[in-house]
Amino acid sequence: MCVCQGNGPGFEHLDVWKLLDRVRGDAGVEFAVVHPQLCGEEGLRFWGELVRPGVTYVVGACDPALQRKMFKDALAAAGASFDRQVVALDLRHMATEEAAEKVAEVVRPLSDGR
Ligand code: SF4
Repeated sequence: MCVCQGNGPGFEHLDVWKLLDRVRGDAGVEFAVVHPQLCGEEGLRFWGELVRPGVTYVVGACDPALQRKMFKDALAAAGASFDRQVVALDLRHMATEEAAEKVAEVVRPLSDGR
């Protein structure tokens, strides 16, 4: 999860800590983390350390097209693929419960297909 350092536009109604607490209990979720700025220099290094082949990453953050533009090279440099391994969700302008449900909707079929 990434919410623009906690003060980004569109995330005013989202309690990212409650969201993490909700989604980490969903079936199939191995871990849930929040990063303050995944598109920043240090965030891109984090991607390089994090990604592993065959793992799907559900990213709740900003516009999915923007996520692709910002993250794909960092994943490719680590031998991973944004298009195959990332499910990018736009959680802007959502309240916590609505965001948690949106995450659960994509996690459920992923865990069913294991
Ligand atoms: S990845 Fe998106 S949500 Fe996260 S800091 Fe960058 S612009 Fe904001």
